[in-house]
Amino acid sequence: MSIQTSDGSSKEYAKSLSLIAAHSHISGLGLDESLQPKPTSQGMVGQLQARRAAGVILKMVQSGLIAGRAVLIAGPPSTGKTALAMGLSQSLGKDVPFTAIAGSEIFSLELSKTEALTQAFRKSIGVKIKEETELIEGEVVEIQIDKSITGGHKQGKLTIKTTDMETIYELGSKMIDGLTKEKVLAGDVISIDKASGKITKLGRSFARSRDYDAMGADTRFVQCPEGELQKRKSVVHTVSLHEIDVINSRTQGFLALFTGDTGEIRSEVRDQINTKVAEWKEEGKADIVPGVLFIDEVHMLDIECFSFINRALEDEFAPIVVMATNRGISKTRGTNYKSPHGLPLDLLDRSIIITTQNYNEQEIKTILSIRAQEEEVEIAPDALDLFTKIGMETSLRYSSNLISVAQQIALKRNNNTVEVTDVKRAYLLFLDSSRSVKFLQQNESQYID
Ligand code: ATP
Repeated sequence: MSIQTSDGSSKEYAKSLSLIAAHSHISGLGLDESLQPKPTSQGMVGQLQARRAAGVILKMVQSGLIAGRAVLIAGPPSTGKTALAMGLSQSLGKDVPFTAIAGSEIFSLELSKTEALTQAFRKSIGVKIKEETELIEGEVVEIQIDKSITGGHKQGKLTIKTTDMETIYELGSKMIDGLTKEKVLAGDVISIDKASGKITKLGRSFARSRDYDAMGADTRFVQCPEGELQKRKSVVHTVSLHEIDVINSRTQGFLALFTGDTGEIRSEVRDQINTKVAEWKEEGKADIVPGVLFIDEVHMLDIECFSFINRALEDEFAPIVVMATNRGISKTRGTNYKSPHGLPLDLLDRSIIITTQNYNEQEIKTILSIRAQEEEVEIAPDALDLFTKIGMETSLRYSSNLISVAQQIALKRNNNTVEVTDVKRAYLLFLDSSRSVKFLQQNESQYID
């Protein structure tokens, strides 16, 4: 999986990195071969129903059945909506781009809303470009013949392996008369009669001899690889459509990729690139890899953005759009209408909705202990119990954030293990949201409205 930031700038980069870092323990959806969720696997804990649903979506994506639709993950805060989207993208493969944005990021002064969304969509489409390089050489490491005698014929399997493991010639179970490992040498030409499957050794110079033309059309020739086998190697790079846009945009130039200062990209540039990429695809030079575009806090988008998404889902180069919200019935921004999750009904209609539920105590404990391992923090068992209690009473995210704070406090008193006292101090030093609200209410007069 490759991770794209919503815009390459360092500020956005840091924001997106922190969005990602909190999920560094997630490496997939944790499903078995029949796509059923294992209780704890690949960093994923519980949330079985949602993971099972994500497994069905994974299957649909793999079978190319997701086009024109979006996924909406709805559930209370810190119930793993982002974690699920990441797990889905990781299950799709390592070259699959994952772009994470928060709904509110779309509203910036530098880019129009639709340009920001277009860039996010195009960052989530990978283009796998296949390039054939020079001929390369691979050394023959093994020529193997297994023989057995069936029905009067010697049946056998000829395997020729080279150091470049892509080059394994398996001639399958064929009739091999009089051939032994010693007799077939690198550089020899063997003929295989397609009809009878008979393999005959023809020697090294055969390929150049006149007899070659004299053989029947049904005969296939295989030259056993020489000591140095010559073979074409193909190299594959995956870039995003957005990267191709930036590199080809005359006003931007490819340096913009590093500064993140891409600005608006002209639609003619994108049209040309779409045509070019479609051509490459046609010629077998490139494959399109639809990635995952994750839009957190999707209720922060407005009606114009929603209609953009509706249209963009129909595009031939659409990524898998996974949206997340923790809102119930609320107003769709830019309208006076209330709707489920603040999404317009036409977009809801094309969305597959997954819901996440709050965690039980044991699940919170397991997630916190996985996070502690990931951050390489050693926690005493009773301190982990306290973290769990805090997680139950405040939120999983608050408790999880407290882990590294408590570690710093423990280190200050020269202790490598986080103890109950460190957790208590961390809890007192940093407010969770409900204590913060209480504090503000009590001290309202001292703040500016
Ligand atoms: P919000 O609504 O506030 O955006 P969210 O539902 O997206 O929250 P996450 O950010 O995914 O929640 O979860 C909070 C933290 O807990 C993250 O570090 C996440 O990786 C971890 N987490 C959540 N659910 C799971 C899970 N089922 N298994 C393992 N880790 C999880």
